Amino acid sequence: MENFANKIISIFGGREIDLPQNIKILMDLKKEYGIEEIYYSELIKRIHGKDEQSLKLREFIKNQVRKLLYECRECPLHLADCHTQKVPGEGEWNSPLMLIGEAPGFEEDRLGRPFVGRAGELLTVILNKLNIDRKKVYITNVVKCRPPKNRTPLASEVRACSKILELELEFISPKVIITLGSVPLNYFKPKSSIVQSRGQWIYERGFWIMPTFHPAYILRQGGETLKRVKWQVWHDFTRAIAKVKELNGDYKFN
Ligand code: SF4
Repeated sequence: MENFANKIISIFGGREIDLPQNIKILMDLKKEYGIEEIYYSELIKRIHGKDEQSLKLREFIKNQVRKLLYECRECPLHLADCHTQKVPGEGEWNSPLMLIGEAPGFEEDRLGRPFVGRAGELLTVILNKLNIDRKKVYITNVVKCRPPKNRTPLASEVRACSKILELELEFISPKVIITLGSVPLNYFKPKSSIVQSRGQWIYERGFWIMPTFHPAYILRQGGETLKRVKWQVWHDFTRAIAKVKELNGDYKFN
């Protein structure tokens, strides 16, 4: 996608066209920061830099994506009685590790933050035990509005909400993704069973994806099953972190 804006416009004979959202955001970014003549790949690289300006560019992009999210009316979930607010992803927009869950629950909807209920507390404990500050990873959900009675999001809702998730994937460009539960696994690999797929790498679209159970699933277990599931999730997380270190060894998780 080189010299993106000029190329796209010239293909269409200089006419105004409806550009993909990622391109629109990058064009706004160029305008805001007076960035001239830069290739798409260079711009993405610049966003991921360690300097002050890169930080500002990431902040700009984060705000643009959030604005789109807050304005979103693409599916009926924002009209559900249980819905009070959209829940954006949170964490480091430069992180090589992204965690993706299913959809917000009661506490997430109430506070407008992902993974802050009991399942979220367990997730934070897992990360802390791995010596990872939760703020240094990016945590999001496939669907950003709470479904009624915490039901599984419908395929149409996942499809509608994918425009935000795709922007997060595009701009954060994580090296490794941990999918938590069946919905995010099936986002990348449709018709998969979480029981059969957990713990097995999927390499898709340039992402190393480690599927594991959702922390809420761990909380529903007891006895021997609980011990086994905890061990499995721990095993999946440690492998994912080892992969991040292999691919991006200089990233600091705390
Ligand atoms: S769930 Fe996603 S697509 Fe549906 S209204 Fe909320 S933000 Fe928009």
